[in-house]
Amino acid sequence: MKRLLVYLWTAPTTLVGLWLAPLALLTGGGVQRIDGVIEIHGGIVRRLLRRCTLLKGGASAMTLGHVVLGQDRTVLELTRAHERVHVRQAERWGPLFIPAYLLASLVALLRGKNAYFDNPFEREAYKRAP
Ligand SMILES: [Zn+2]
Repeated sequence: MKRLLVYLWTAPTTLVGLWLAPLALLTGGGVQRIDGVIEIHGGIVRRLLRRCTLLKGGASAMTLGHVVLGQDRTVLELTRAHERVHVRQAERWGPLFIPAYLLASLVALLRGKNAYFDNPFEREAYKRAP
């Protein structure tokens, strides 16, 4: 019962990523479910991660609730521990996860720091899964 509530609380964030599953499948990518998390890789997801993130040169993976996007299956394996920290963060923050993450990046930028590496969500993820 508690897990169901956690999934519902996290659902608004999960849905932001979930609609990419059919698009990834249609564009040559893949979808897998591991430990209650849907991992989507390849196809259009690879292109999105390369072009539409805060990182120069793109991101290798990204967590949106119980969805993790990865450039390919190997990247998903290599980043799994790190991305699972973000899954736990998304479970804690629920629908506020994306706004809170972006706000934390903005605050870091305004302080003259790095929007990615000085974001507290990333600091926690790198600390727990270096
Ligand atoms: Zn991260």
